Amino acid sequence: MQIVIIGSGVAGVSFAEKYRALSADDDITLVTWEDDGYYSRPLLSRGFTKTDIEQTIILKPFDKLRENNINVLCGAEVTAINRAGKSIALNGSWSHRFPTDCDTSAIPSSRQEKTLQYDKLILAQGSSAFIPPPFRPYEKLFFCLNSLVDLKALRKFRQGFLSQNRHPDWAIVGGGLIGCEVASDLAAAGDKVTLFHAMDRLMERQLAAEDSALLLKVLQDSGVKVLLNQAVQGFIKEENKVCVRTEVTAEFDGLIVACGFKPRTELAELAGLEIGRGIKVNQYLQTSDESIYALGDVAELPNGKLYAFILPIRNQALWLAEFLAGQKQDSWTPPVFTTKAKVHGFEAVHPYNV
Ligand SMILES: Cc1cc2nc3c(=O)[nH]c(=O)nc-3n(C[C@H](O)[C@H](O)[C@H](O)COP(=O)(O)OP(=O)(O)OC[C@H]3O[C@@H](n4cnc5c(N)ncnc54)[C@H](O)[C@@H]3O)c2cc1C
Repeated sequence: MQIVIIGSGVAGVSFAEKYRALSADDDITLVTWEDDGYYSRPLLSRGFTKTDIEQTIILKPFDKLRENNINVLCGAEVTAINRAGKSIALNGSWSHRFPTDCDTSAIPSSRQEKTLQYDKLILAQGSSAFIPPPFRPYEKLFFCLNSLVDLKALRKFRQGFLSQNRHPDWAIVGGGLIGCEVASDLAAAGDKVTLFHAMDRLMERQLAAEDSALLLKVLQDSGVKVLLNQAVQGFIKEENKVCVRTEVTAEFDGLIVACGFKPRTELAELAGLEIGRGIKVNQYLQTSDESIYALGDVAELPNGKLYAFILPIRNQALWLAEFLAGQKQDSWTPPVFTTKAKVHGFEAVHPYNV
């Protein structure tokens, strides 16, 4: 059997490794547009206080997976799913050898296009940063922090200031989990930070009001200027500065938008799979096509929930590997879990809403 997985995050990699452990014979191919290896996304928001983060964030180089007989095609973007022909189309500049049953109509350039057949396709494409519609015209003016590529770009930008013996002055838009974590880490690294949040308290979806107040105090004590009830209207570029437009206009060296995440449903939608907020799956993580499964940030369960945290995703991946290897019959049930904001010096009193 040919198992093809799209995505090299915790969902794709945990599934691949577990399935390999349970089935020595099936072909497993993991396709990803990443080049750096399998890395810890949660550690991205500690990317400014740790100097060697670009190395330590890597949990496993792709060659380690290849040594485990998992064929990894990195630097390759999946551009289409052909359900009738049970194949996917790829585009990229990979150097790794293809499995023998792959159509090798190589284009004589550094970029190549291929198709790859599957018996079972596992969609583990994760999520991208959600950009509110009013901010979309300004995408060149701000950073997001959703991937290692984003972190490297942010670190490079920041280094430009540090090498002139100056710390940058940041605006962060979004006082949810990631915005608060990034604000905290940049402040701990010595930068000046202003955090704009649309609501009247921080992390209002996850935290009890008392904990939001505690978080506000911890951030303020660390030097972060927190502005609540801010309706950010857009941004303006002014020479070397970027301005945030609210009721007043304030200027900064750098801007980060942290307004949540958006499951990558586009490929599935183009292929005619059922979509809601994520790719709709049943309790067996099976999409509306019986040969295609989805898990991780991209999957929406029948209760309408996305389980976009490491613990339940890993649990889905292990469960799905066992299910497809014939070792489980019962459907997937979410484990009990909670989360924690990685804000320096903050401990919530009440459990988080997840
Ligand atoms: C800054 C930050 C901090 C976080 N902190 C925490 C935390 O403390 N605790 C916690 O539980 N969760 C945390 N999360 C959430 C957690 O990291 C995610 O829920 C989890 O990593 C999602 O895993 P995934 O495998 O579903 O997707 P991802 O990790 O997004 O992986 C998806 C992969 O798919 C690949 N891909 C997508 N589309 C294509 C395509 N068309 N072709 C080829 N490749 C493709 C991408 O390269 C990517 O490697 C955090 C997230 C962020 C961004």
